[in-house]
Amino acid sequence: QMPTPMSQSSQVFNFSAGPAILPASVLEIVQQDLLNLADSGMSILEMSHRSRTVDQLLHEVEADVRALADIPENYSVLFLQGGASLQFSMLPMNLLSVEQPADYLVTGVWSQKAVQEAEKVGAVRIAGSTESEGFIRIPRQDELSCSPNAAYAHFTSNNTIYGTQWQDAPDVGTVPLVSDMSSDIFSRPLNIERYGFVYASAQKNLGPAGLTLVIIRNDLLERSSRSLPSVMNYATLVKHGSRYNTPPVFGIYVLHLVVKWLRERGGLAGIARGNERKAAKVYAEIDRTEFYQGVATDDSRSFMNITFKLPTKSLDEVFTQEATKVGLLGIAGHRLLEGQRASLYNAMPESGAVALASFMRDFERRHG
Ligand SMILES: *Cc1c(COP(=O)(O)O)cnc(C)c1O
Repeated sequence: QMPTPMSQSSQVFNFSAGPAILPASVLEIVQQDLLNLADSGMSILEMSHRSRTVDQLLHEVEADVRALADIPENYSVLFLQGGASLQFSMLPMNLLSVEQPADYLVTGVWSQKAVQEAEKVGAVRIAGSTESEGFIRIPRQDELSCSPNAAYAHFTSNNTIYGTQWQDAPDVGTVPLVSDMSSDIFSRPLNIERYGFVYASAQKNLGPAGLTLVIIRNDLLERSSRSLPSVMNYATLVKHGSRYNTPPVFGIYVLHLVVKWLRERGGLAGIARGNERKAAKVYAEIDRTEFYQGVATDDSRSFMNITFKLPTKSLDEVFTQEATKVGLLGIAGHRLLEGQRASLYNAMPESGAVALASFMRDFERRHG
């Protein structure tokens, strides 16, 4: 039996976990600008990072990021390379001291990788973990054992692989709170004053791979030792306005368009409402029937990555194949977890969530 084709068969929806969907209108602007940016006669890809155009770009993108997320002057914004994975190392190299351990809350593979890298640099305490339960939920506040003397406390706000998300940031007292927000940054309001340090690789919710956004509270810059490699020293990078060396100019340019797109859509509060609506449509299908089994527990569900399984492994395979045929792409689960994973990042239109929900109903009718 063939699946019913969708009404617009030429339309595809990209549910990939990352690199991931970007707003179609942003990609159109990129295409229009590509050969000749702002009447310069040159492509952004050809421009010096010290040119006036790029000066202005860096100035405006920082201002727009600050306006979008309400980031005050006592925080610095950095545009770096190396992905979130480089931050797993740079963060402890800059902020951890040998005498003072850092607390890590472990809620998935990305948190574990952050721990592994920090352990190469200094002392790490695990202040909470749901590993024994297969990472299907976020720990409750009363399960955490954070130290009031930690160098910082690190958590992963959204667990891309398992489809779990902290509904609210953990309370770690006066210890600087650090978050890897790679897969949910700017998907909901961000109360930055609760954080000392936030980082995100761009390729989930911000732009192309090759760019990492870092937001750091300025008092923490004092911890960066001068013996660090210069390109890995936050204080040096801030001093040079992200241009100690050549920054990823193209990625920053695309990020700027994405940030402007977010501001036009009501900013973080506006995009959060849309994200909740989209996720609710897919979770409604999971909750409606036993046919689909959600991976995450109800209180830990992610609005960004929705993970679920079908009754058998072979049905899971058929689901992925048929979804692909009707243009619902990138939906197979992570190899560690299998099943399905639908990523509904900011750029996924509501029509994508509606198409997936209706495909799920139709699939159950034919195979349930
Ligand atoms: C994708 C991802 C990473 C890894 O990002 P890279 O840019 O590949 O280093 C880290 N943390 C989370 C939460 C992610 O989703």
